[in-house]
Amino acid sequence: MVWLRREDLEDRELHELSPWATPSRAAGGRRLPEAEDPLRTTFQRDRDRVIHSTAFRRLQHKTQVLAAFEGDHFRSRMTHSLEVSQMARSVTAALRLNHDLAEAIALAHDLGHPPFGHVGEEALHEVMQAHGGFRHNAQGARIVDYLEDRYGHGHGLNLTLATRRSLLKGRVPDGFPLPADLLPKRPPPLEAHVVDLCDKIAYLTHDLDDGLRAGLFTNEQAHDLRLWQLATDAAASPLRQRVISEMVALLVHDLVDTTDASLTARRPGEEPPRIAHSATMAVMAQELLEFLRQSFYRSPRVLTVMEDGAQRIRRLFERLLQNPHELPAAATERLARDGLHRVACDHIAGMTDRYLLRHTP
Ligand code: MG
Repeated sequence: MVWLRREDLEDRELHELSPWATPSRAAGGRRLPEAEDPLRTTFQRDRDRVIHSTAFRRLQHKTQVLAAFEGDHFRSRMTHSLEVSQMARSVTAALRLNHDLAEAIALAHDLGHPPFGHVGEEALHEVMQAHGGFRHNAQGARIVDYLEDRYGHGHGLNLTLATRRSLLKGRVPDGFPLPADLLPKRPPPLEAHVVDLCDKIAYLTHDLDDGLRAGLFTNEQAHDLRLWQLATDAAASPLRQRVISEMVALLVHDLVDTTDASLTARRPGEEPPRIAHSATMAVMAQELLEFLRQSFYRSPRVLTVMEDGAQRIRRLFERLLQNPHELPAAATERLARDGLHRVACDHIAGMTDRYLLRHTP
């Protein structure tokens, strides 16, 4: 027989993956037990379910920093997620971690983002203060576990425990409704930490790219950054795209080298090392983040759009509290279980930027 069956892929993982990796056979099972797929490992199946979800398709119309309707070439949350996934696959493959798990986590890592980015997130957290709060990672877990009810069994996409724990990485507000098996929170697999760092590499570099493209700052201003200088030298070209791509390479290679060294320095079974950049690279990345904060994230052009979005979110939330009959039928069905505040919050969080604009005067 020529074709590879799932069992063959699983055996191959056991041979090829590092002892620090999460093999598919250690995925921790699904809430609702299911027969295994003949071709795909359990993490490949998680990844495919994410790609086929409605929440994933909505990412194409959710803002990263510049709203997509400002121009066709800026990143949306979907293209961002694809970039993160591509980097996380390369990094985990190089480190012999499970790249299928990393891919599933990366594609799902932003599913819980509301419209208008972090400003939208803060607006929802504020109106939900007395009702369990709001944060995008917790909302992502809520989407895959519950809201994305594709199969009608009440367990959402019914992903594996390893993927679900990974999505919950980061802070979760007190009182946010989570399934009992995710509590207390446990440290996620190393693959989740890699995705986290790749998320950062992706947004630092593509936000720099988008900001330059949008004319919010110039190549000359970016040239003050040490990372830009290193990347320009490596690219041997002043072309923006070439410099950005070298910058990605510098950050990714540093992450692989540093993590490889810290994994090699420990024995499996010991406390896993922190996945991080080298000290020098961490400083340069921080410098870039500060630059983006000053000249991009807090620029009047970005803040004006974001603030308008946040205002619309607050107004719409109030309107739904006064007029719950405006909620769609699928949301109304959840009222008895989740209460009006949470249902209104879920409804708004699921919206794309343009849907929110269309539905708020
Ligand atoms: Mg992200």
